[in-house]
Amino acid sequence: MRYYCPNCWKDYWVEDFKTCPECGYSIKKHNDKSYVDKLLNALNHRAGEVRLFVIMILVQRKEKRAIPYLDKLSKETKDPSLVKAALEAVMRIHEGK
Ligand SMILES: [Zn+2]
Repeated sequence: MRYYCPNCWKDYWVEDFKTCPECGYSIKKHNDKSYVDKLLNALNHRAGEVRLFVIMILVQRKEKRAIPYLDKLSKETKDPSLVKAALEAVMRIHEGK
Protein backbone atom coordinates (compact mmCIF):
# COMPACT_ATOMS: atom_id res chain seq x y z
CA MET A 1 0.00 0.00 0.00
CA ARG A 2 0.98 3.58 -0.36
CA TYR A 3 2.37 5.77 2.39
CA TYR A 4 2.59 9.50 2.67
CA CYS A 5 4.90 11.81 4.53
CA PRO A 6 2.71 13.77 6.97
CA ASN A 7 4.81 16.86 6.42
CA CYS A 8 5.19 17.26 2.65
CA TRP A 9 2.69 14.55 1.51
CA LYS A 10 5.06 13.01 -0.94
CA ASP A 11 3.97 9.43 -1.53
CA TYR A 12 6.04 6.30 -1.09
CA TRP A 13 5.59 2.63 -1.65
CA VAL A 14 8.01 1.67 1.09
CA GLU A 15 6.36 0.54 4.27
CA ASP A 16 8.92 1.47 6.80
CA PHE A 17 10.92 4.61 6.71
CA LYS A 18 11.95 6.65 9.71
CA THR A 19 12.73 9.91 8.05
CA CYS A 20 11.12 11.32 4.92
CA PRO A 21 13.75 11.23 2.14
CA GLU A 22 12.09 14.27 0.59
CA CYS A 23 11.82 16.80 3.43
CA GLY A 24 13.61 15.08 6.32
CA TYR A 25 10.54 14.93 8.53
CA SER A 26 10.94 12.34 11.26
CA ILE A 27 8.16 9.79 10.93
CA LYS A 28 9.19 8.30 14.27
CA LYS A 29 7.46 11.11 16.10
CA HIS A 30 4.13 9.40 15.51
CA ASN A 31 2.79 10.17 18.94
CA ASP A 32 3.50 13.85 18.85
CA LYS A 33 0.60 16.22 19.10
CA SER A 34 2.01 18.02 16.08
CA TYR A 35 1.72 14.82 14.05
CA VAL A 36 -1.99 14.59 14.81
CA ASP A 37 -2.34 18.27 13.96
CA LYS A 38 -0.71 17.60 10.60
CA LEU A 39 -3.12 14.74 9.98
CA LEU A 40 -6.10 16.90 10.88
CA ASN A 41 -4.87 19.67 8.58
CA ALA A 42 -4.44 17.13 5.82
CA LEU A 43 -8.16 16.35 5.90
CA ASN A 44 -8.34 19.49 3.75
CA HIS A 45 -5.66 18.29 1.35
CA ARG A 46 -6.59 18.86 -2.29
CA ALA A 47 -5.93 15.22 -3.22
CA GLY A 48 -8.76 12.91 -2.25
CA GLU A 49 -6.41 9.94 -1.98
CA VAL A 50 -4.35 11.75 0.65
CA ARG A 51 -7.51 12.48 2.62
CA LEU A 52 -8.55 8.83 2.46
CA PHE A 53 -5.10 7.83 3.68
CA VAL A 54 -5.30 10.29 6.57
CA ILE A 55 -8.76 9.03 7.53
CA MET A 56 -7.38 5.50 7.65
CA ILE A 57 -4.50 6.54 9.93
CA LEU A 58 -6.87 8.44 12.24
CA VAL A 59 -9.05 5.34 12.53
CA GLN A 60 -6.01 3.17 13.28
CA ARG A 61 -5.01 5.58 16.01
CA LYS A 62 -8.58 5.86 17.39
CA GLU A 63 -7.99 9.56 17.32
CA LYS A 64 -10.99 11.02 19.17
CA ARG A 65 -9.83 14.56 18.42
CA ALA A 66 -10.54 13.79 14.76
CA ILE A 67 -14.27 13.22 15.20
CA PRO A 68 -15.45 16.84 14.75
CA TYR A 69 -13.10 17.23 11.78
CA LEU A 70 -14.43 14.07 10.16
CA ASP A 71 -18.00 15.21 10.80
CA LYS A 72 -17.25 18.48 9.10
CA LEU A 73 -15.54 16.75 6.18
CA SER A 74 -18.47 14.40 5.63
CA LYS A 75 -20.80 17.40 5.39
CA GLU A 76 -18.60 19.58 3.22
CA THR A 77 -17.08 17.26 0.66
CA LYS A 78 -18.82 16.43 -2.59
CA ASP A 79 -16.89 13.21 -3.01
CA PRO A 80 -19.18 10.30 -2.05
CA SER A 81 -16.29 7.95 -1.25
CA LEU A 82 -14.90 10.53 1.19
CA VAL A 83 -18.30 11.04 2.80
CA LYS A 84 -18.57 7.29 3.31
CA ALA A 85 -15.00 6.98 4.62
CA ALA A 86 -15.45 9.89 7.04
CA LEU A 87 -18.75 8.55 8.41
CA GLU A 88 -17.34 5.05 8.85
CA ALA A 89 -14.27 6.50 10.53
CA VAL A 90 -16.38 8.41 13.08
CA MET A 91 -18.27 5.22 13.84
CA ARG A 92 -15.15 3.14 14.25
CA ILE A 93 -13.37 5.72 16.43
CA HIS A 94 -16.49 5.90 18.63
CA GLU A 95 -16.55 2.14 18.97
CA GLY A 96 -12.86 2.13 19.80
CA LYS A 97 -12.27 -0.96 17.68
ZN1 LIG B 1 8.27 14.75 3.68
